[in-house]
Amino acid sequence: MIVVMKPFATQEMITRIMKRVESLGMKPHVIVGVERTVIAATGAEPEGIQAEIEACDEVEKVMPILAPYKIASRETRKEPTVIRCGSLVLGGGHIGVIAGPCSVESEEQIMQVAAQVKAAGATALRGGAFKPRTSPYAFQGMKEAGLKLLAAARDATGLAVVTEVMTPHHVELVSKYADILQIGARNMQNYHLLQAVGETRKPILLKRGPSATIEEFLLAAEYILDQGNHDVILCERGIRTFETHTRFTLPLATVPYLREKTHLPIITDPSHGTGIASLVPSMSAASIAAGADGLILEVHPNPSKAVSDGAQTLTPAAFEATMQLCRKVATALGKTM
Ligand code: PEP
Ligand code: MN
Repeated sequence: MIVVMKPFATQEMITRIMKRVESLGMKPHVIVGVERTVIAATGAEPEGIQAEIEACDEVEKVMPILAPYKIASRETRKEPTVIRCGSLVLGGGHIGVIAGPCSVESEEQIMQVAAQVKAAGATALRGGAFKPRTSPYAFQGMKEAGLKLLAAARDATGLAVVTEVMTPHHVELVSKYADILQIGARNMQNYHLLQAVGETRKPILLKRGPSATIEEFLLAAEYILDQGNHDVILCERGIRTFETHTRFTLPLATVPYLREKTHLPIITDPSHGTGIASLVPSMSAASIAAGADGLILEVHPNPSKAVSDGAQTLTPAAFEATMQLCRKVATALGKTM
């Protein structure tokens, strides 16, 4: 249920309602809006609770949340969630671009590409240090050494660092170096991992599973939100279909559809979504046109030498051209990029 507080409600009043909600075995989530504060109470609702809370003087009204994803739902929060993390601002008319290699490979590679993507206007740096690979024999990432290189690249460029965490055991380690934790497509339904990153206060970039429905995607986000971490970025990265011309199928209707259902920022990943570098500029521009709040793009100083995902990776020059194209679309929509 959503408890809508009266505009004059003080912190003390809000705390009192939260305590009552907690005493009934539910979890209160305070969502501060422009006009008033609401408390989203999640968990099993004891009978008669809505009427009891609604009778309190400081409460304007109590409403059920109809969507299965409670905190992610637009019913709970009307205004868009804007995520600010160092150099990256996403949502509410601000477009952020996260760019960098699929994998961190060496100091020279990450430093070079970090400077290149920054010069072209990227607002955050990506790079995998722990890599989820289809084959156990493929390069698995530089692990902590890669995290250290990402941190060094952040120090050199000022770009916020986004990197994947694959297991709850690594959340503490990855959090030491990263600004934003990425949950990869394969782990979208790893509920213990979702809860573990939900316990941190780092923004989480959650990728859609290749065979997950949008409802499953939003419920995965809900696992993070319900731990009290309200900074979740949703990323459409392509789904598996019968089509084999592209690596995955990038469904751009996801963007306006999610916009209707949730206040969370929405980005796309045209690199994994297509698997083909030449398609990435158009699909990036199309994503912005569809209303995306940002992009995550793979860029490498020399894609043909990349240890992973080279075929879908942009050269620095192609990335710069992509940025220029996307900026035109963003400007036409009255957004900042
Ligand atoms: C990646 O970002 O390099 C990655 C492995 O992505 P996904 O989880 O979407 O496959
Ligand atoms: Mn990749």
